[in-house]
Amino acid sequence: MSKIVFFSIPAHGHTNPTLPVVSELVNRGHDVWYYSFMEFREKIERCGAKFIPCDEFLPSISQQELERKVGKDFAALIEMIADTTLALEKQVSTELREFKPDCVVSDSLALWGKLLAQKFQIPYICSTTSFAFNQYTAKLMKPSAKEIWRTIIGMGRINKKMKMLRAHGFAVKSFISVIQNDNETDTIVFTSKEFQPLSETFSDRYAFVGPSIRKSSHVLKDTTSRKFIYISLGTVLNQHNDFYQNCMKAFADSSYEVLMSVGENTNISSLGRTPDNFTIRHTVDQVAVLQKTDVFITHGGMNSVNESLYYGVPMVLYPFHSEQRLVADRVVELGAGIKLKGYKMRHLTKAVADVLTDPLYQKNVEKLAKSIQHAGGAGEAANVIMAKAAKHESVVE
Ligand code: UDP
Repeated sequence: MSKIVFFSIPAHGHTNPTLPVVSELVNRGHDVWYYSFMEFREKIERCGAKFIPCDEFLPSISQQELERKVGKDFAALIEMIADTTLALEKQVSTELREFKPDCVVSDSLALWGKLLAQKFQIPYICSTTSFAFNQYTAKLMKPSAKEIWRTIIGMGRINKKMKMLRAHGFAVKSFISVIQNDNETDTIVFTSKEFQPLSETFSDRYAFVGPSIRKSSHVLKDTTSRKFIYISLGTVLNQHNDFYQNCMKAFADSSYEVLMSVGENTNISSLGRTPDNFTIRHTVDQVAVLQKTDVFITHGGMNSVNESLYYGVPMVLYPFHSEQRLVADRVVELGAGIKLKGYKMRHLTKAVADVLTDPLYQKNVEKLAKSIQHAGGAGEAANVIMAKAAKHESVVE
């Protein structure tokens, strides 16, 4: 039996892909600890791991501020990551010394996992739920002027935090080394090599295992002959009443059936009268829904896009920040969807009609679906982790 420790950040998109991997490891008889946040407790414990909350170590900020930081303000994000690392260092160090894990698997943004593993010389695997990111893919990011400006004015704050980390014995070279993957680090990437841009620039230490799709409790039956549109802007930056209302205007009383998932914090009644052909929910079982969807209108979150590709659903994309733009651009490059130029009614109706009438979108998405379904998923991710843990056990013995 091996002992594996996971670390993630408080985000569904970063946590969800790791859960089937945890289940797989537990089913194979291994002992798994998971450092995460109360919101995810139930999900994690259901997979059979020991859940350890880190909420008290997060800087206390409002939900609104957190959403801004996670998506758009890079300097603030780095600051928050560094503060969390320093806050939880003492407790986690003690626990890791006792548990003596064979491998730490840490999300690419959960800097604390990576730094503590390095400090205690525990084998470390980076878990990447977005595209793998290096100096070449960084050039594709095309951050908005506002995002660049925020990073430039935030450099002083970033450097101050890097200094503090070094003073606590963490070996950080630069803030770039914090967020960028290098070719010497074992890395699990939850997409396929075919979907990853510039995949040839990554070494064979990168395991492109494809999305680790959680098992859906049910598959929705296709009860209608009408084309089915599913709309979601994900779980983080999803409060966009004007976007939802434009979708309602664009597709009300059309020949489409529409399901719109608007997030926990959107007040559904504030959106106005629900058109007869619409169903609006705070959250849905997306994996089940995609299995009957003809076109997915999405913000281009990596998990949503991976899931859509997995089930062969072409997309209409409206990304909100640079990482989502990179994902959307890749979908467009591979001919699996259309990126919206705006979200007025005419943009929405034309893009959906184009995707549904041109068979090339469906053909291209099905080609990608094959690559993604055969990449190995959670089982392959578990194999990569076990191989690393086994090497460590043999050295310790
Ligand atoms: N999701 C879901 N139900 C919903 C909306 C989203 O299950 O109603 C899931 C979706 O399947 C995906 C994740 O939430 O796994 C969203 O992650 P993504 O990376 O697409 O976007 P983020 O929420 O991080 O912006």
